[in-house]
Amino acid sequence: MRQRAETIPTPEEVEIFITGAVHSPASRTARAAAGIFIEDGNPSCKGKCIPVAGEQSQYAAELFRVAALEATKITHRDTILTITSTQTHIMEAMNKKLPDWELEGWVDVKHRDVLRCLAAELKARRARTTFKIAAPASPEKAWCLKASILAKQSARNRVEERWDLTLPPNTALPGMRLQGNRQHVFYRSIREIKDRNRTPRPSTLKMLDAVRKDVEAAFGRYVTDADIWLALTAKDLLPRTTQFLWKGLHKAHRIGNYWNHIPECGDRAICQECGVLEDLEHILLRCTSPGQNIVWQTAETLWRRKKKSGP
Ligand SMILES: [Zn+2]
Repeated sequence: MRQRAETIPTPEEVEIFITGAVHSPASRTARAAAGIFIEDGNPSCKGKCIPVAGEQSQYAAELFRVAALEATKITHRDTILTITSTQTHIMEAMNKKLPDWELEGWVDVKHRDVLRCLAAELKARRARTTFKIAAPASPEKAWCLKASILAKQSARNRVEERWDLTLPPNTALPGMRLQGNRQHVFYRSIREIKDRNRTPRPSTLKMLDAVRKDVEAAFGRYVTDADIWLALTAKDLLPRTTQFLWKGLHKAHRIGNYWNHIPECGDRAICQECGVLEDLEHILLRCTSPGQNIVWQTAETLWRRKKKSGP
């Protein structure tokens, strides 16, 4: 049996209010935390920063999941537990989606580590666990708000926390079920295993970091790699534009260093006008070649015209 550092001693029944909050100050990376509240003065009430450093901002659902996990971990397994929140994320995940996720071996499930641990903790409980949604203007809603205050304080203070995602023994099914699964699930599972062994291209990682920093500086919003790749598939972009941006992110355009690897073509790597190594940033923004201004002015005119005719 695993040792638990802290457990709520109440033997009968407990209701825990959970929520999540994001603190995103200007020019600093956003920090997210989960909050749990039981009753005033209870030492187990707390806010706790979520461990994933990179994915702090938009995943409200994730915050509720980690808060629910914490609520489950600190409650004695023989105590009847009600987990109340203002959102349906966690209730839907555990009551509706869990059987499919287990059948499919958690393939393609975002933040599966936390969800899998939560499901295992729930199975390890000997007493009943219920998920509840706080009604508007109810006392439960007010207590969820107190959990939110704790989460915000924690996110603001940016205290690094340790999260134990060890699964209790004999609670989680390993692998995926062979019977009853569809072919595309097996295919995605094989892709996941292959992707795990794939090393990302250093030049692509650099470009993604540069895009991330620029988006944060311009819009104050943290974006993940997945957000950036997904943005390329926006319906507003024509396929050729998507291809151009995709190549740009991979540094796959035939410019600059590309020519240094081809015999007798090394001189094409250098901008003939400025005498520096060409890259996409230089061509689009920095090159002093005549005509660049005209292109940007035309783009601006088109952009303004589109704005006028927009909704
Ligand atoms: Zn140039």
